[in-house]
Amino acid sequence: MDASTNTSTDAKTGASSDASTDAGTDAHLEIGILRRDGRTDPFFDGTAADRLVIRRCEPCGRWYAPDQSSCPECGEEDLDWVPAEGTATLVTWTVTRSRTGKAPAYLALVELAEGPWLHARLDGVAPEALREGLPLRATFVHPAEGESYMLFKSHMPSKS
Ligand SMILES: [Zn+2]
Repeated sequence: MDASTNTSTDAKTGASSDASTDAGTDAHLEIGILRRDGRTDPFFDGTAADRLVIRRCEPCGRWYAPDQSSCPECGEEDLDWVPAEGTATLVTWTVTRSRTGKAPAYLALVELAEGPWLHARLDGVAPEALREGLPLRATFVHPAEGESYMLFKSHMPSKS
């Protein structure tokens, strides 16, 4: 930014500083192209329609993440797909900084209002605003290729 202060003589000696590969791998964390695997079709039908759909055990009323296949509490193996509210709170997060100048990626573990925990990316968050318990709301991305997916944005409840 302030190249005017660059008075350092960086061309020291003939030290072989170019031993490391400069064009390193892009460590930027990307979701990639999502494909259906059959098991999660209702989830992707939901994201395509801007809805978060998760699993619920009808017999005992517990909620589960979309990739849960059976209820560990009662043994039910036919969990329902039920729309969730789409709100969550931040549990923990990691920041992945790119060496290629892209914006950092925030990968979070969030707790849905219904209880299940999900891994998801955060979007439009200020690093200094991140804290445990931060209210979040799901938003949906519809890429040109692959399945729609969700991100979580900071969400200030207007009331209650
Ligand atoms: Zn159950």
